[in-house]
Amino acid sequence: MAILRPSQRVADVRAIDLGALEVAGVSGLMIDLDNTLLPRDTSIIPPEIEAWIAEVKVRFRVCLVSNNWHERVHEVAAELELPLVAKAIKPLPFAFLKALRTIGLSPRRCAVIGDQLLTDILGGNIIGAKTIMVDPLSQTDLPHTLLLRKLEARIMKDDPGTKPTPVKDETCE
Ligand SMILES: [Mg+2]
Repeated sequence: MAILRPSQRVADVRAIDLGALEVAGVSGLMIDLDNTLLPRDTSIIPPEIEAWIAEVKVRFRVCLVSNNWHERVHEVAAELELPLVAKAIKPLPFAFLKALRTIGLSPRRCAVIGDQLLTDILGGNIIGAKTIMVDPLSQTDLPHTLLLRKLEARIMKDDPGTKPTPVKDETCE
């Protein structure tokens, strides 16, 4: 089902072809936090993610969109110097619409990046953005999220359109 299919699926955010997004007219990124940029059980931003965010901020308008509402996500957003829409209730569109207002772009010029099919990807598809699904950074998550993941795995198993894009071998570049 197209609404449940990411435009792209990659292993992690660093495997996203940023140049191809720019060529496709994408100027803004709405990025999930937990298990997309950092493992859910930590506030420590991995250095490679920090470097990726620094590069992305130069090339795109960026807003974090998280269903989480704890102090931790606000601290992480502050550390990355990025705007955040917390308590997002994805896949509902309201937080994405708020994020779009924050970065001043239409959905068609944005990509939603996240690790969950039924929140990030479904929500991004509902508003008409491109959607990029990454593998979760850790297996630690809330019980209801783990349940959702089982359902997601089942949906993706039945849909060849959700197969991951092979990660580029950077040593060949
Ligand atoms: Mg997540």
